[in-house]
Amino acid sequence: MPDNIVCQGCMLAKDGIHLPGGWALNHYEGGEGYLGWLAIAPVAHRMTLAALSDEEQFTFMSNVVAIEAAMSSYRMDDRIVRFYMCYFAESLVTHPFHFHVHLIPRYESLQMKAWDMAKATKSEGFPEKYQKTPERIKALMDYLREVLKSPR
Ligand SMILES: [Zn+2]
Repeated sequence: MPDNIVCQGCMLAKDGIHLPGGWALNHYEGGEGYLGWLAIAPVAHRMTLAALSDEEQFTFMSNVVAIEAAMSSYRMDDRIVRFYMCYFAESLVTHPFHFHVHLIPRYESLQMKAWDMAKATKSEGFPEKYQKTPERIKALMDYLREVLKSPR
């Protein structure tokens, strides 16, 4: 795939928090999900893991480690203890597929398994405090932008 492709995923990445090695971080905007559900993607158009440059491969995990550390220090009334890291290799919105990995937070108080999560977030009674609002997303992303720009 030539590097001059610009897809919807490229545009999302361009607007995200830019991270070392050509990566970008966005809050997931899909219909399901909840506060803190992030996606990391290369800024350049890539469709697969194998298409990542050497630098993108090497910097991917160091960025994920930094994001996990930042998320676990995010101050709210529940703690994000870790997250699921999911590479579905498919997308409902971006064509052609733009490589990205979902980082889905696991809150300490939410006793949910991965397979229940997407369904639960669309159900009535899903706790309001985890629902994503523009204000909550902005506060979290402002926090991450500040923390992740620190040298590491
Ligand atoms: Zn793209």
